Parts: sequence; structure tokens; C-alpha cells
Amino acid sequence: MTAVQEERTTEDLKALAEQAGRELENATAPEILRWAADTFGRRFCVTSSMEDAVVAHLASRALPGVDVVFLDTGYHFPETIGTRDAVEAVMDVNLITLTPRQTVAEQDAEYGPRLHDRDPDLCCALRKVRPLEEGLKNYVAWATGLRRDESPTRADTPVVGWDEKRQKVKISPIARWSQEDVAAYVAEHGVLTNPLLMDGYASVGCAPCTRRVLEGEDARAGRWSGLSKTECGLHG
Ligand code: SF4
Repeated sequence: MTAVQEERTTEDLKALAEQAGRELENATAPEILRWAADTFGRRFCVTSSMEDAVVAHLASRALPGVDVVFLDTGYHFPETIGTRDAVEAVMDVNLITLTPRQTVAEQDAEYGPRLHDRDPDLCCALRKVRPLEEGLKNYVAWATGLRRDESPTRADTPVVGWDEKRQKVKISPIARWSQEDVAAYVAEHGVLTNPLLMDGYASVGCAPCTRRVLEGEDARAGRWSGLSKTECGLHG
């Protein structure tokens, strides 16, 4: 299969994504990423929250030097920034750090301090959703580490689907994996993980909006704890 042409229409891409979603439903993660690399070439990127580098590792095997996009909200734990730096240093990827238009101080000056406590949806829109939308403009397809078992809101995640909001092909190569599958891949390949995962955090986001999870809670229960918010808007 040849790399997708610039002149492919949005409708073509949408149809391609939906067909691939059906055909690759039972494919392995390496097979899905092989398809993505062959189909989109350098117009394909991986986004990573730096919770772990599993999808970046898988993608770098399919497409050495693949673009790995990290959103630096200005609110990350030092461990997350350290994981980003380690991934850049040791893996065969092109690490791209996206930043919001405003620093945290500039945002505080315009909206008041701790916007994340008062209006987390706006804070996520300013610090995550907008920067990602701008950062993805150069790509036709993006890959994520979404998994169906992470939470009920992710139970229907297709391995390849259509991102209506951004008009791009969205690939979730480990959608069918369990937490045990992730742990096994990490152990087998010595993949970098965020040290916070060993410290009671099952899902790692911005520091003000993330807590450790309790016994029996699902992996994302520590995100925006106490609020009805469960997603940052990147995947909605
Ligand atoms: Fe702001 Fe919290 Fe969203 Fe990070 S997760 S962008 S701190 S509301």
C-alpha cells in the first residue's frame, strides 16, 4: 500500500478509516501500526501523555523516527517531564512538545489563579485541546494509547476510526489491550514508564487534577476526582 496522497478528500479518509476499523479489529498492535506507517508515512504521529511509552515504542518499530507529540500543559508532574526527556533521549522518535498559547502565569492573569479548580473544561480547552488541534494540522492521522478497559467512556474505542472533530484518522492500536497486556509489553521490551505508576497513580495527568487511585477503583478514577468530568476533551 502506498502512502496516502495529499489530495485525498476528507470523505475518502473517513471511508478509509471506517473500513480499516472493521478490517483491523482483530489485528495485533504492530499490524495496525504497520498499516498506519504504510498508509500515512510521515503524515502520521503518535500522541503521548508520558504515562508510558508503549505506543511510541510500537510506532517507532513500524516507522523509525516517528513524530511523538507531547502536550506540555505547564501543570505536569516533574516525573512526567522526566519521562518525556528520557523517551526523547533513548528512543528512535522525533519528540515534539506542544505548549499552550499562554503560560500558566499569563492564564492566571487573564482568568484568575487555579482555573482548573473553577472551570476545568475551559482550562483543558486552553491548555490541551487547542494546542493539540494546532499541532495536528500537519498530520492526516494520529495514534493514541486509549484502551477500552480504562473506563466505561472508552469501552467502544475503535482500533481505527474517524476523528470527526479534527477531521483526521484516529488510531488506537492498543484499544483491545488489558492493563496486564501493557505490563507484559513493558516488561518484555524494557519500555519506559512514568515512575508515578509505581507510586499509586494508575493514570497520570496534570498534577492539580490527578490523585492516586484506591483499591477497586478504575484506572481513571484519580483524574478530576470529585467532579463529573472524566475526559479532557482530547478524545471527545
Ligand atoms: Fe487544566 Fe487540569 Fe485540564 Fe490540566 S487536566 S489542563 S490542569 S483542568
